[in-house]
Amino acid sequence: MSEGIMQSDRPETLEGDSKDLFSKFDETIELRRNLLSSGVQDPFSLVMEKVLSPTRAICNGRDTILLGTYNYMGMTFDPDVLEAGKQALDDFGSGTTGSRVLNGTFQGHKECEEALREFYDMEHAMVFSTGYLANLGIISTIAGKGDYIILDIDSHASIWDGCAMGNAEVVPFKHNDVEAMEKRLKRIPEGAGKLVILEGVYSMLGDVAPLKEMVRIAKENGAMVLVDEAHSMGFIGENGRGVCEEAGVIDDCDFIIGTFSKSVGTVGGFCVSNHPKFDIMRLVCRPYVFTASLPPSVVATAATSIRKLMDASEKRAHLWENSKRLHSGLTEMGFKLGTDKPESAIIAVIMPDLEKGAAMWSALLEEGLYVNLARPPATPANMTLLRCSLCAEHSGEEVETILQMFENAGKAVGII
Ligand code: PMP
Repeated sequence: MSEGIMQSDRPETLEGDSKDLFSKFDETIELRRNLLSSGVQDPFSLVMEKVLSPTRAICNGRDTILLGTYNYMGMTFDPDVLEAGKQALDDFGSGTTGSRVLNGTFQGHKECEEALREFYDMEHAMVFSTGYLANLGIISTIAGKGDYIILDIDSHASIWDGCAMGNAEVVPFKHNDVEAMEKRLKRIPEGAGKLVILEGVYSMLGDVAPLKEMVRIAKENGAMVLVDEAHSMGFIGENGRGVCEEAGVIDDCDFIIGTFSKSVGTVGGFCVSNHPKFDIMRLVCRPYVFTASLPPSVVATAATSIRKLMDASEKRAHLWENSKRLHSGLTEMGFKLGTDKPESAIIAVIMPDLEKGAAMWSALLEEGLYVNLARPPATPANMTLLRCSLCAEHSGEEVETILQMFENAGKAVGII
């Protein structure tokens, strides 16, 4: 499809005076054209022809180890999860055909919210159709015109979009910088509504936020706190509740946002909260009200997976082992990594530039390993990254194979 567009013979401008609204994408189109002309496979249109397990798929006809999915806890092929989904499909059909506030709340949605309340030990849980919509909805609904949002500059796109939609004053601070956050907070006019937005794990470099200090300072300055635990739920913290749990600040967080598309292994998003008025969100939050609810099979798989994640300490321990081994192995080989020590299930390998990054990505795929190629604007400081995300279902042996593949590809491309 994309190549068809790029090789098109049509004129680049439209007839008469009208402006081609696509002209703003010319730079990206050019970048992509240059990348592909170097002969590498398009890193952004890989197809998994068959998925064999949480850690393996057939890509380009070949058995490939997956090291670039968010399947941290490997729940996508859990037999209980699959069974729950199949049963719900039989009992409730393929879709809800409506919004949560009309005909789209089935028994399964309530059970899923109950599982979340138990998982976090919180009063309220609200399920959205994706994590993107959860951030968009909660942020835009609670922080409106005249309110202030203080947020980390490296926040996820869904957080920025939520800020823009709500029209609050947005005050960004330098990534993970406690002092910068405090300074910004203290400058906000007296009496204004304040929301501090943080993430547990930042997904590009896999680094963790200093939530203990940040949440304390936010509270001392009268702000409400929202923490996005998309990349930490299920894995970090004794019960897998995330970095908030690990840092001992979960009771001071007003809202925790999460997703089902990572450790939970399906699709959907949520917000949990102890705020006494939280339930009104169900009537006033547009990305909850004005979209269809999740299919019954999806909420059934999510609820089953969430319940199993409450009791998954062995899996969590094995995932930590994998993360530590990959981090130390890559460091010993001479790769430059995003963090000095492993902080999460994400290990980011910093590439010298996009060309080398794409060549390395291709060489790894030829070895039989899939990782994510991440580049600006998604990455901080204009970095090109090979982002590796580990899974609790990667065996120790698989991690050794992965390291060997990195060594072969790194030498072939001349990075190590
Ligand atoms: N928050 C963060 C930090 C994320 O990384 C993502 C997705 N990558 C989301 C929210 C959105 O989650 P979902 O995939 O469920 O839309």
